Amino acid sequence: MKIGILGLGLIGGSLGLDLRSQGHHLLGVSRRESTCQKALDIGSVDQASVDLKFLASADVIFICTPIGLIVPQVEQLMVYLPMKAIITDVGSVKAPIVEAVSPLWQNFIGGHPMAGNTDVGIEAAQRNLFVNRPYVLTPIETTPNRAITILEEIVRSLGSIIYHCQPEKHDRAVSWISHLPVMISASLTATCLSETDPEIFQLAQNLASSGFRDTSRVGAGNPELGVMMAQYNHQALLHSLQQYRQNLDEFIDLIEQEKWQILEDKLKLNQQQRPNFL
Ligand code: NAP
Repeated sequence: MKIGILGLGLIGGSLGLDLRSQGHHLLGVSRRESTCQKALDIGSVDQASVDLKFLASADVIFICTPIGLIVPQVEQLMVYLPMKAIITDVGSVKAPIVEAVSPLWQNFIGGHPMAGNTDVGIEAAQRNLFVNRPYVLTPIETTPNRAITILEEIVRSLGSIIYHCQPEKHDRAVSWISHLPVMISASLTATCLSETDPEIFQLAQNLASSGFRDTSRVGAGNPELGVMMAQYNHQALLHSLQQYRQNLDEFIDLIEQEKWQILEDKLKLNQQQRPNFL
């Protein structure tokens, strides 16, 4: 099958590596010539170009650009494609994208691989990034079955675990487990930066170890992606953040009032519940 990838970064480049190794013919398009060349060098695509027209012969196209560019890119790409071409995207937010693209292209299915890391660009592309990871598909009532079946086959071949859900439900769910953690983690590091005593500040940096590494990691990723999560999943993220603030206040109250038993009960509950998310 001819598979097109638009946006050869971490996700697009990684998809290319896995799909190409399965014998598909990969066509890549990216903004910069240098990125196209790197994608060719690492074997992520068979052919690459900076020209959108280059994807005209692809059977399935993955749009892997930053969230805010997905809808405009589909609008530009459409004019070159036959109607049977299947378009999907990998954006971390689904409702605004599905809402805008579905009326334009019948064979469109929103998608979101729940995999990634804090690095960006084609240099960060890696094999097997999607193995055993959830991959959400958000077809709507009018999405043709043929398109769903073809895309599911490709996603399954990545080793991913497929979930179907409505775009709005996806956005609410990822707001809890993906977008909220980015904001919490970022505010953790920002809070540590507020230490005014240089000696304590230096000591804290020297002593930071695995706990700080785990909790600060997701907030130190691609800033552009973080902003777009907030921009395009505005309502759900605000709701999660407000709920989080309420929980934080409860912890502050318990500590201020030295209610150690209640604090322990809360921590025990979290200890029990965390595995259900992982
Ligand atoms: P990334 O590494 O920054 O890659 C995005 C790529 O898009 C860049 O390499 C850039 O290529 C290309 N691009 C930018 N503007 C373009 C344009 N106008 N035309 C063509 N290509 C353009 O970002 P990413 O992490 O792969 O994220 C891409 C998408 O995946 C986003 O929609 C994000 O929501 C989603 N996603 C990300 C993660 C994650 O953890 N990172 C996880 C799941 C889904 P050049 O190098 O040529 O400029």
